[in-house]
Amino acid sequence: MASIFSKIISGEIPCYKVAETEDFLAFLDINPNAKGHTLCIPKQEVDKIFDLDDALYIELMKFSKKVAIALEKTVPCKRVGMTVIGLEVPHAHVHLIPLNTMEDAVFSKKVTLTKDEFENIANAIGKAM
Ligand code: AMP
Repeated sequence: MASIFSKIISGEIPCYKVAETEDFLAFLDINPNAKGHTLCIPKQEVDKIFDLDDALYIELMKFSKKVAIALEKTVPCKRVGMTVIGLEVPHAHVHLIPLNTMEDAVFSKKVTLTKDEFENIANAIGKAM
C-alpha cells in the first residue's frame, strides 16, 4: 500500500507545498513543532532513510539544504534544525524545524496554524528559494 507521503506526491492527498523537483518534494508538516516546520522527501518510496541508495541520499541532503536556507530566510529563528525520525510515516523524510529554543526540537510541543497561515508560510519559503 502506498505511504501517505506517496499519496501526497500523486496528489491523492493535499499538502502545503514548499518546493518540488523531479525527484523530491518539500511540504509543511501538518502537525508542526514550530511555524515553518517542513518535510523533505524523495519521491521514490523507501521506508528508512539510511536504506536510500547513496546518490539519492546525498541529493536529498542537497535538496533539504536549499529548503533549510530558504526557511531560515523566511521564518525568524536562531537556526534551522534537521531531524530524522520516521516512527510515524514509513517513507524516508527529513524534518526541517525553525528553532528558537530546545523545546522547538521536541516532538511533543506543537503549534496550531490556520489554513491561511499554512498557505502563506509555504508560499513564502518557496519564493525564498
Ligand atoms: P515521523 O515519521 O515520526 O518522522 O513523523 C511523521 C511526520 O509527518 C509527523 O511530524 C506528522 O505530523 C507528519 N505528517 C503526517 N501526515 C502528514 C500529512 N498528511 N501532511 C503533512 N505532514 C504529515
